[in-house]
Amino acid sequence: MTPELFALIETLTAARSLPLNGYQRLIEARCPESAALLAKQAVQARKEIYGNTVYVRGLIEISNFCRNDCLYCGIRRSNRHCQRYRLTPEQILACADEGYLLGFRTFVLQGGEDIFFTDKILCELICTLKQKHPDCAITLSLGERSRESYQLLREAGADRYLLRHETADRTHYQSLHPPEMSYEHRMQCLQDLRELGYQVGCGFMVGSPGQTSAELARDLKFMEEFKPDMCGIGPFVPHRDTPFRKEPAGTVELTCYLLSILRLIYPPVLLPSTTALGTIDPQGREKGIQAGANVVMPNLSPVSVRKQYELYDNKICTGEESAQCRDCLDARMRSIGYEIVTSRGDIKTF
Ligand code: SAH
Repeated sequence: MTPELFALIETLTAARSLPLNGYQRLIEARCPESAALLAKQAVQARKEIYGNTVYVRGLIEISNFCRNDCLYCGIRRSNRHCQRYRLTPEQILACADEGYLLGFRTFVLQGGEDIFFTDKILCELICTLKQKHPDCAITLSLGERSRESYQLLREAGADRYLLRHETADRTHYQSLHPPEMSYEHRMQCLQDLRELGYQVGCGFMVGSPGQTSAELARDLKFMEEFKPDMCGIGPFVPHRDTPFRKEPAGTVELTCYLLSILRLIYPPVLLPSTTALGTIDPQGREKGIQAGANVVMPNLSPVSVRKQYELYDNKICTGEESAQCRDCLDARMRSIGYEIVTSRGDIKTF
């Protein structure tokens, strides 16, 4: 490893920060030795806070109807080949009940931006969920809504909100999204969510078309400044019915490298080892944990609709029952010396 890389890693570990060009160099000049050192430091930093435990969240994909047209996403509105579905509130509650029996204490309701899910319908759903399972945390991942809407959902009982910023570079953001979407609005949503008292998750894809180490450096700087409770990152994976069908997927290597850096920037942050990572590499989720991630999100959606929530090609875990997904991840984590815990899994800040 070059003295430059070594010095950058020393500074990052001590100061929890690098200048923008420092992040960029750390990415550009990376080598297997710098990856190994970062992973070692990241695992150490996580261990001091979370031991060898991995938090688990039950993911319920409530709808694949979407009014947006993000260029990378398989459920974008202009994909005519996408078979649309939407779960009823009763189906969603049934998924959560099943999840509860399997030990889940956090439910993530994720979906496209489906106008069927009005504030009224969502608030009723959240209230019922909270009444049935008061010891559970509810996370929403339903895209951009108005501040008023976020406020109502929060008052109804939602605890957390995941909204990946996708990229912290305005020009890059525009190249990934249709003209009616804006970087400013995405960032405003994250700000609103935080002010309303949500635990907030941001995040980005690794290897999205047009992304260079300069954009990634901005993502790292944003994460350093915003200090989200959670940061979801996973490789970009092309979907055959999108304009990015011919673009190459992101790599496990770079995703893991960034997971280690994110852990060192903000040691308490919740970092999921994502399904996308498991999709491009059969051992991807294990590698993510070994690089510094501490959350996994098995799927609780009804098997009948799993295949339809296809954000990218070849998504894994579309054939198994919820219990199988839970058991599979349990075994995978144990195989690398980690233990899944079934608490709400809140961030541990001091
Ligand atoms: N509509 C919600 C949920 C989006 S799906 C929202 O806007 O937040 C969750 C995440 O999947 C997205 O934020 C995006 O980062 C990721 N994603 C979408 N398409 C993808 C692809 N082709 N490859 C990898 N990740 C993708």
